[in-house]
Amino acid sequence: MNMRAATRQSRLLAVALTFAFALLASSCASGPQSITVTSVDRAIEPPPHGTKDYPQAFRAILSVMLRNLQLPPVEVSIILFPSQTSYVEGVAADAERDLQQLRKVLGPLAKNLRDEEFLARARETALSTDAVGKHKRVLLNESRLAKHPWPEWMKVLAHELAHSVEFALVEGRPALWDRWLTEGFAEWVGYKVLDLLGTESFAKSQEQRLALMRTAKNFQTFPSLGQLAAGTDFHAWARTLGIEATYGQALIAVDYLIEQKGLAAVLEYFRLFRKSNNREQNFTTAFGETHAAFDEKFSRRMTVLLDR
Ligand SMILES: [Zn+2]
Repeated sequence: MNMRAATRQSRLLAVALTFAFALLASSCASGPQSITVTSVDRAIEPPPHGTKDYPQAFRAILSVMLRNLQLPPVEVSIILFPSQTSYVEGVAADAERDLQQLRKVLGPLAKNLRDEEFLARARETALSTDAVGKHKRVLLNESRLAKHPWPEWMKVLAHELAHSVEFALVEGRPALWDRWLTEGFAEWVGYKVLDLLGTESFAKSQEQRLALMRTAKNFQTFPSLGQLAAGTDFHAWARTLGIEATYGQALIAVDYLIEQKGLAAVLEYFRLFRKSNNREQNFTTAFGETHAAFDEKFSRRMTVLLDR
């Protein structure tokens, strides 16, 4: 063996050792845990009240979503981060992969993407969230989720799984859909799941949201749905009016939309983004009326509900 070969071998050994240490580090208790859950067509009991068993909760929720709500089946990796820091780092790393995918889809238009702004926004969002539902994966901040009362904990898990269903409908493609519709749908699924599991009735959940909206209304005028279409605008309103009020408005808008047009039309709306990101056209195709027409009807409905 000559000197060069010996040096190369010792370098290879050093790389192998570093890799082995990295593997050890990632499997130790402080790292994220990951499990995969799949929708199955049989009833699954949720964990008992107060028991925060993630795999069982996810399986029970997916079962209700498939069997009772007739939502499409999904397979999802559940990634559980033990601390706020590891969650923020996990979300940032995930956003970097999103960015690469976005570049591929956008082609020449990708030159308008500002990487640093995109990643900074992902970190900023991560700092104030419990979880994030993506295509085939849900990232969870256990340090925050551990503090929620059990029903709220279940609702958050169902909300994020609903986002995974939305992404499944576009096969993971980046979609510029109405944010009030994706968030409202996730809230709607979250509360329907609680209702179907016998935890809390949908009517009661909605009434609690309306009460919070009435308080917010004393200080601020509510935006139109058009003002809640872009993700950045939606989050800006949530900061102004309070998360409860903005998500509440999205929830009652989607509940009204489903009452008027049916759940199948909402799923069709999401599915249309597989081929086109034309928000206005997709809305009209799925619901048979324009954004503006629905917005006007909903605004009257909201006034009635809030004045009750
Ligand atoms: Zn959401």
